[in-house]
Amino acid sequence: MPLPLRAFLLATLLLAPLPAAATDTPPPVAGPAPAAAPRPWSPSEKAIAKGSPRARVAVPDFTALPPAPLLPAGLAGSVRRVDLPPGEKLVALTFDLCETAGEVAGYDGEIVDTLRRRGIAATFFVGGHWAATHPERFRELAADPRFEIANHTWTHANLRLVDDARLAREILAPEAAFAEAGWQARSKYLRFPFGACDARSMAAVNAAGMAAIQWDVSTGDPSPFASADMIVAETMRGVRPGSIVLAHANGRGFHTGAALPRILDRLTAQGYHFVSVGDLLARGRPVVTPTCYDSHPGDTDKYDHWAALGGRKPSTKPLAAPERPFGAPATGTAKPAAGAPTP
Ligand SMILES: [Zn+2]
Repeated sequence: MPLPLRAFLLATLLLAPLPAAATDTPPPVAGPAPAAAPRPWSPSEKAIAKGSPRARVAVPDFTALPPAPLLPAGLAGSVRRVDLPPGEKLVALTFDLCETAGEVAGYDGEIVDTLRRRGIAATFFVGGHWAATHPERFRELAADPRFEIANHTWTHANLRLVDDARLAREILAPEAAFAEAGWQARSKYLRFPFGACDARSMAAVNAAGMAAIQWDVSTGDPSPFASADMIVAETMRGVRPGSIVLAHANGRGFHTGAALPRILDRLTAQGYHFVSVGDLLARGRPVVTPTCYDSHPGDTDKYDHWAALGGRKPSTKPLAAPERPFGAPATGTAKPAAGAPTP
């Protein structure tokens, strides 16, 4: 064969389309597509971007929210833990996703991945601003039946110090942000930033249909000096049946993700099971205190020096007493408190 012809045939062979694959495999059987594995949250994004252009999010319109549901009786005041029937060893792990105005906070992806991998229920107190800057991540949390969504204010203000207009915004804008992200529900619970409340802010939260869920066990994880060992030790020191454990998932639990598997191992070995705040409340009697605090009454007053937030002096009035005696069942309805923002 002359060389040019051989080259021509070779080129034709190389450029020809490949023959169709053999068709001896059966056609795919029709049926439901396998559920997609959830997108991992690792690697974490723990850095907090101050002044990021992404932080410029508009306050969503919260004036058109449907009327708030009434707060169940027995939940007015600061819920710290739940008294359970003897022998019930339940604990609620809670993770705050705090974000202030002008920043984009991150997240500790190890927490979500560990909870999912081990099938652990948890409650996330989500800042509205965080949800607005992380809409996809918010949707993933809200879509996971293991996780309960709750409100951690719009921009993490000290609600003792804000004026009435901002108080309404801090409480209700997150609900509008969650709705904009596609969540078709309403938060039943709110956590006061800094653990700081007063009678006015508590009345407003309760009138918005939300119980104020604080904690009886603080992991201490927001301190950069809190190692995973210290977080584990502090948690184990405080937990008892019915505890509500405070931790952070916004990257300002610096070692929370590393500590979590060890906390789960130890508590599981002691016979504990993990439930959402809502499920914990349903299983026992809420322990409601007349003030908000971290470990003892008055210890969050120190955060009031951040008065530059608005210059308003915190009310020194004590909280109204819970409408029912301590331990009343969380059923029925309570009247909205006076002076609360209109949804
Ligand atoms: Zn917070």
